[in-house]
Amino acid sequence: MKKKIFLALLSIFPLCVSCKNQHQSVSQKIGSSAYEYTKKIISYGPRPPASQAHLRVQEWIEEKGKEFGLVIKKYPFEASTPIGNVAMTNLSFVVPGAKGLDRVMFVAHYESKTFDSIRFVGANDAASSVALLLALIPIFQKSAFDFDVEIALMDGEEAYHKFDESDGFYGSKRYAKQSLLGKPIRAVIGVDMIGDKDLQLIKAAGIDLSLLDRLRKVLRDMKKEDLLSDRWMGVADDHSPFVELNLPVLHLMDFTFGGKVPPGTLWHTEKDTIENISQESLSTVAEVIIRLLEDLDKSTKRE
Ligand SMILES: [Zn+2]
Repeated sequence: MKKKIFLALLSIFPLCVSCKNQHQSVSQKIGSSAYEYTKKIISYGPRPPASQAHLRVQEWIEEKGKEFGLVIKKYPFEASTPIGNVAMTNLSFVVPGAKGLDRVMFVAHYESKTFDSIRFVGANDAASSVALLLALIPIFQKSAFDFDVEIALMDGEEAYHKFDESDGFYGSKRYAKQSLLGKPIRAVIGVDMIGDKDLQLIKAAGIDLSLLDRLRKVLRDMKKEDLLSDRWMGVADDHSPFVELNLPVLHLMDFTFGGKVPPGTLWHTEKDTIENISQESLSTVAEVIIRLLEDLDKSTKRE
C-alpha cells in the first residue's frame, strides 16, 4: 500500500512541477504571438465599423482562422445608431470540444471607436483582446476540453456618442440573444483592455460568483492574487447583454489604462498604441484563461 502511494506521489509530483513551468512557457509564447497580432491589427489604421480598414481586419481575422483550420462564421446586420444605419458584422470561430455537449464562449470587440478629432487605433481597446484569443486557438485545439470553445468577435461595442440604452454594444446585444439558440453555455468570458502595463482586473458587477471563485483560485495558484481588484465595479461592456440574459458570465477587463484611477489616462486617446501595451500582461491573461478552462474542464471530468 505504502509503495503504491509513493509511486503515485512520484508520478504526480514531477507532473505538477512541470505543469507550472509548462503553463508559463506556453503562456509566454502566446503573449508574444498576441503582441505581434495586435501590431498587425492596428497596422490597418483606425477601424471604425464599415470602414475599409475594418473590412481589411475582418479579412485578416478570417485568414488567421484558416491558418488554424477554422472556418469563420459571419453575422452581418444593420445597426441603428445616432449617426444613422451602419453595416456591422459579428464574427465567430468554434474550436470543437472532445464531447462538445456545451460551450465556453469568449467575447471581445474588434472594431475601434469612431473619432473625428484623433487618430485612434485601439491597440489595447480592443485589438489586444482579439489578438490574444486568436493566439490561444492552437492551445484550445491541443487541449481537447470536453466543451466547445467559441470565440465571438463583436462589432460595434463602442458608442458613437455616449454609452446608453440605445448607443453601444450593437453586436453583443444581438449575439447574446442569438447565443441562446445554440448549445448550452457553461460560461461566457468577456475580454477587454487586457494589455495594460499595470494590469489590474476589475470585479465587474453582475458576474457569476462561482466563476469568480474559479478565477480567484487560478490567481492563487499563479501567486498573482493582487491582479484582481478588491472592489466591485459597475461597468457596462460586451459582457453586459449576456448578464442581462442570466447567463454565467466572467469579465476579464482592466479599466485603469495608464494610472490607477478608472478609466485611466490613456483610455480612448491617441495614445492607445502598441508602445503602451505589455506583452507580459498578455502572457499573464493567457495563463489565466488556460488555467480557467482547465479548471472548468476538470469539474465535469470529475462528475
Ligand atoms: Zn473603448
